[in-house]
Amino acid sequence: MFKTSKIKKMRDRYRKFAYVSDIAGIVNSIGEMHGKGFLKQPKLNKNFVKQPDSPVFHENWFIEKIKDLVVAHPDNCKEYPFYGEKIFDEPLIGFIKGDDPLLEQYKDIIGPHHFTPYEIMKIQAESNGVKPPKASDLSVVSFTMPIIKETKKDNARKKKWPCERWAQTRRMGEMFSQVFVREIIVHLMENGILAIAPDVTPMFNKKRYPKVGWASPWSHRHMAYAAGLGTFGMQDFLITRNGVAHRVGSFVVNLQLEPNHERPADIHAWCLHRQGHSCLKCASRCPVNAIDKNGHDKERCYQHVKASTKYCIKNFKIFIYGCGLCATRVPCESGIPDGIESD
Ligand code: SF4
Ligand code: SF4
Repeated sequence: MFKTSKIKKMRDRYRKFAYVSDIAGIVNSIGEMHGKGFLKQPKLNKNFVKQPDSPVFHENWFIEKIKDLVVAHPDNCKEYPFYGEKIFDEPLIGFIKGDDPLLEQYKDIIGPHHFTPYEIMKIQAESNGVKPPKASDLSVVSFTMPIIKETKKDNARKKKWPCERWAQTRRMGEMFSQVFVREIIVHLMENGILAIAPDVTPMFNKKRYPKVGWASPWSHRHMAYAAGLGTFGMQDFLITRNGVAHRVGSFVVNLQLEPNHERPADIHAWCLHRQGHSCLKCASRCPVNAIDKNGHDKERCYQHVKASTKYCIKNFKIFIYGCGLCATRVPCESGIPDGIESD
């Protein structure tokens, strides 16, 4: 075991000037906000000829592949002082048909800037010189990766800023998600199947929109709702069977995959307050009163989350922002809250 003074020295040497030295964190944050700095999209193998032993990309292939990658991938791992500790537990995976009418309705619900799978795939198809597939030949693969219990426990103790494990989960977890999804996209494209992860394209820039405030043109959370993986809570996080403390992701493929979860008709079906029960524990966890009985003030939340960058740089030596206090020490932290009927 290291003595406290030695740990302090190690920490002091570790990215002392994170503002300029945590290049990966800076690139990741800029990418997340402005859709910049991503790797080039992989090219489609247009000469692919199917062989008897070519993989068959059915629903179970995606479920097993994503589970295996999240469970065993070396990048699903934190940094000093949590070397070797995982970021996420086993994910939930769901599918949405590319022509599901809800995806078109998102243009009214979220805003006209929100892409349909067809629109995002059209860009990928045209950049590879092939005809865009029909919406009915596309599917969205959606997944949620639960944050491990040690991270949730630490964040549950915090009152203003995130704990170090949470900050690392935001930074390394986002990068890990991009890495493993890219591995899947590359594999599909090599096998002649068009695929795209919208959040690593230049189109993924977050902006303030008149109807919904801060939003991106591809909402992973809305995709996860459409896939039947969860419903929205008061803090706008998605309450899944594993709770709200997770990271959500999704990508589009030129395959017809069958939905595997029933979608609750009510987008707030699993939130206690929205179902008329007493709760609002998320509101009392928020240090800046960004949640009340009517919902979530995105702008107030955004200002606090943005301000956390300074705290994370100073205390954890990483360039990241985050909060998530309203996702921990709440009844929906790790599952559908007691009192809600979910089946
Ligand atoms: S803490 Fe309660 S009110 Fe807030 S999202 Fe969770 S279930 Fe809903
Ligand atoms: S993320 Fe933080 S600032 Fe935003 S609503 Fe939750 S507790 Fe409040």
